[in-house]
Amino acid sequence: MKKIIFNWKENPNTLKEAKKIILDIVSSAKKYNHSVITAVPFVYLSLLSEFIKEKGITKLIELSAQNLCYQDGGAYTGEVSSKMLKDIGIKYSIIGHSERRYIFSETNEQISLKIEKSTLSKIVPILCVGELQKTSLENAFDFIKKQISENLSGYQSNDSLIVAYEPVWAIGGDKTVDVELAVEMIKRIKSFLVKKYDRKIEVLYGGSVNSKNIDEFIKFPEINGFLVGSASLIKKEIDYIIKKVK
Ligand code: PEP
Repeated sequence: MKKIIFNWKENPNTLKEAKKIILDIVSSAKKYNHSVITAVPFVYLSLLSEFIKEKGITKLIELSAQNLCYQDGGAYTGEVSSKMLKDIGIKYSIIGHSERRYIFSETNEQISLKIEKSTLSKIVPILCVGELQKTSLENAFDFIKKQISENLSGYQSNDSLIVAYEPVWAIGGDKTVDVELAVEMIKRIKSFLVKKYDRKIEVLYGGSVNSKNIDEFIKFPEINGFLVGSASLIKKEIDYIIKKVK
């Protein structure tokens, strides 16, 4: 089954709204017999974990962090460690999202350390990679190969890992997507990873996936699922995406 990872980014502003969106996701997940991973802001992680347990819906939704720190603890104001996430039962974390890389200046080296910390704590990293601007397939792939090699420099091939190919120019919820490019790039990323690690690693697509374009993507078996940002906050979009992604 293809994976669905929702990324709420810095949304919503209240716990009440967050709980409502969780229930929207779960109602569709139940209807279409799917399980969804949802990456929520740090402040909601333990509150929503409890909420999900109380409601008995742990089989339909799992929570992910959107980031973690490359240090285990200490004088790093504002940061959250992989150990803290593990302690409250979180199983996944997005790492190297383009908004972290380009708004908050995260480097490939820091991302590599984050991957190491995350796997040491048995948190599955969801590594986001993607070229900045629309360019030729060759240039984009060269850029991504470098990103992957640097970001996974400390990665051991038997550790769990999910990769999301997210062309940065396609992120934003309403950008034009290029399905053929996404499929071709995912094929290349997968064979690059197989050569490097001698095993298959799931590669998802992310970048303005929504109800208007999901039908174009789902027919491709190469795409192992979707990382969805903006549309993951809207009930109708959530329902359509979960219905389509099998
Ligand atoms: C994302 O947050 O990774 C993302 C793909 O966002 P959007 O769907 O809004 O483009």
